[in-house]
Amino acid sequence: MAAWHLRGNVLPDGEVADLWIDGDRISTSPVAGATTLCESGWITPGLVDAHCHVGIRFGGGGEDVDGLLAQAETERDRGVLLIRDAGSPVDNRIVDQRRDLPRIVRAGRHIAAPKRYIRGLPVDVDDERDLPAEVVRQAHAGDGWVKLVGDWIDRSVGDLAPLWSDDVLADAIAAAHEVGARVTAHVFGEAALPGLLDAGIDCIEHGTGLTEETIAMMVERDIALVPTLVNIATFLDIADSATRFPVYAAHMRDLHRRRYATIATAHESGVRIYAGTDAGGSIRHGRIADEVAELTRAGLSPHDALGAACWNARPWLGHRNLDDGAPADLVIFPDDPRSGPAVLGAPSMVILRGSVVSTQDLGADSPRI
Ligand SMILES: [Zn+2]
Repeated sequence: MAAWHLRGNVLPDGEVADLWIDGDRISTSPVAGATTLCESGWITPGLVDAHCHVGIRFGGGGEDVDGLLAQAETERDRGVLLIRDAGSPVDNRIVDQRRDLPRIVRAGRHIAAPKRYIRGLPVDVDDERDLPAEVVRQAHAGDGWVKLVGDWIDRSVGDLAPLWSDDVLADAIAAAHEVGARVTAHVFGEAALPGLLDAGIDCIEHGTGLTEETIAMMVERDIALVPTLVNIATFLDIADSATRFPVYAAHMRDLHRRRYATIATAHESGVRIYAGTDAGGSIRHGRIADEVAELTRAGLSPHDALGAACWNARPWLGHRNLDDGAPADLVIFPDDPRSGPAVLGAPSMVILRGSVVSTQDLGADSPRI
């Protein structure tokens, strides 16, 4: 493989530095015979979408092979080189056979109760006493994560309600931990959170129903949060379509109205926050820059918001940043990507496993290949 040299402002530090790529690895010391790939610009470790469904079709249902490969390409071209797949109804392991496509950390399939999630996506557990066994099954199907549906509309109640009893959750999460998997859960409302947090869960998706009490529980137990604000933006549409359930619709509107304040309080209290778009289904792929911008609206600094989609999220998922010997997964931008989605959403070059996998139409003073 070729050897490359890059110079630019390397984030998170932001200082001008030199990096080399030796085969598929980063080197912080010169590599003989390296060709200079860029002499200016901003360099970040590969971006992370920590909640992204490669395998759920836009508009709903499972995606076919060509479609899910196209989803992975879309993410890659935006610089997303590491994906936490928060549940897929179809097998997307074919992505692993393509060295030019992002790395995926999988969560198996969503686990739900019958009629308590989007039809066709989850495995349904008829009797909740079987939840621990299903959790172990999905842990083995994934790459270290399990995805529970924590709450959903209960049509007999007419509002969001938890899917699981507290004691079943404790057993299920303990079972996942025993086989080395972490557990996360989809949660929109307030009521499901105490049981999940008490049961030892590792992460919460969405988290719009967090309160001062449940935020304190997350801080105390160091439980991460992936808000998916670009998905929460669709809550008003969900409410509009729920005309038969006025209490639920009002609840969703209220959660939406205070979304930034909720996430801001969690952030200020010290909850670790990571960026996820929830692409697939109702959100198009390739929107990580929009989610980072949303996180700044929820009070994260531009530096911390990008960190939530990059250098902070990578170690959380077991991957390295641009240190010596790390895999050469990096993104080059013409300007500081912390300046906003116009820059962050349009990388000039994407390098994965040491190879240039995507380039913008390069102008005269852009980095050269
Ligand atoms: Zn999702």
